Amino acid sequence: MSKSTDQTMQQIVSLCRRRAFIFQSSEIYGGLNGCWDYGPMGVELKRNIKALWWRDLVTRRTDIEGVDCSILMNAKVWEASGHVQSFTDPMVDCLQCRGRFRADHIVNNQCPTCGTKDKFTEVRHFNLMFKTFVGAMEDNSSQVFLRPETCQGIFANFDNVVNTCRVKIPFGMAQIGKAFRNEINPRNFTFRSREFEQMEMEFFCRPDKEEANKWFEYWKTERYNWYLKYGIRKERLHLRTHDQNELAHYAAGCADIEYDFPFGRAELEGIANRTDYDLKRHAEFSKKDLSYFDQAANARYYPYVIEPSAGADRATLAFLVDAYVEEAERTVLRFHPEVAPVKVAVFPLVNKEGMPEMAEKIFLDLKKYWNCYFDDKGAVGRRYRRQDEIGTPYCITVDGESVKSNSVTVRERDSMAQVRISVGELVNHLSKTLTSGV
Ligand code: ATP
Repeated sequence: MSKSTDQTMQQIVSLCRRRAFIFQSSEIYGGLNGCWDYGPMGVELKRNIKALWWRDLVTRRTDIEGVDCSILMNAKVWEASGHVQSFTDPMVDCLQCRGRFRADHIVNNQCPTCGTKDKFTEVRHFNLMFKTFVGAMEDNSSQVFLRPETCQGIFANFDNVVNTCRVKIPFGMAQIGKAFRNEINPRNFTFRSREFEQMEMEFFCRPDKEEANKWFEYWKTERYNWYLKYGIRKERLHLRTHDQNELAHYAAGCADIEYDFPFGRAELEGIANRTDYDLKRHAEFSKKDLSYFDQAANARYYPYVIEPSAGADRATLAFLVDAYVEEAERTVLRFHPEVAPVKVAVFPLVNKEGMPEMAEKIFLDLKKYWNCYFDDKGAVGRRYRRQDEIGTPYCITVDGESVKSNSVTVRERDSMAQVRISVGELVNHLSKTLTSGV
């Protein structure tokens, strides 16, 4: 990693801490590797990203249903999915510094920490699933796993949704929720964590190669464009279709949406054609018929599934990195308005002549529509800088003129241009770019 990219990442990490986006988990006890806490700004940012995903994939569509499944599931689920047997990473230890790494992350047989060459243990395979027990007995019969991906809950509920929701193929099932992987080497801030959130959607279609390919192409484009729609820079976003020899044994096609992070190009989301593998495996292990009856075709079959699988934390990190701009006079997060954690900040210019009361009233009124921030402390220039650093699109200033003419100035974050607007017009004016509800 070059010094400048390393520095950019460090600056972003430090801004995240300083401005209450992301903290180390249980920091007062020295932290826990691979686990992170979102502060007041971070939680809004991540919730917005999840809400936009849900809005665009579930509520604004007519062909996708949402579910929210439990994290702990019957252990058989993970036998059927293949995770008990083969959800492993190859692991090596450096004999010099004792560092532990994923063997497939080692370049030129050189230790990434101490630089020693050719001094590693044999490769061992390590299962990434966290184990725990249900009930009082800690034996094999009570052992369960924290789910390493959310999609298996969807497959396990396929029949429930088909039988209760009048869905017709092609249709999708979506879920957002926590997943856990005991990563050998968590790193790059939240990019590789041990506890994280996924946003996954399984889109079921006819088990016909052409039909599945059509949806695979459709979801590749949809998902790539989704990041662009919310402001990710096109030159940093890449769609990479996997070669045949990279594919998981059950997959007929796979593509990654990758982003140029300061630490290198890395996967944000994977889109896979998982064929009928998962439903058939669950049918075999549960001994339940999970096939689908297609009335229009008068045929029974196991559908194929196309899966866009995204990480909410990786997306949050990409939006943060992408928005980060250092200008001569300020650091600014140029978030898309719908992504920004705070939409509007309200400042009374000075603490007199009815300004605080007027500002507070405006603040409480706007709060009914958007997440707003009230700041009456310190020089106004510093208040602007603070909002720029958390990416607030609009700052409203209540000044002496405001009290006289019932108007305020609205300053736009990126251009820093200010316009005077009458208070009665504020909601209308802001609604041009801010949608309510996200
Ligand atoms: P990688 O190769 O980076 O380990 P993967 O290919 O195993 O990732 P998938 O199993 O396809 O990842 O998971 C789907 C998505 O879940 C990823 O694109 C990513 O956004 C997210 N994800 C997976 N593992 C992690 C993790 N350890 N921390 C944060 N997000 C993760």
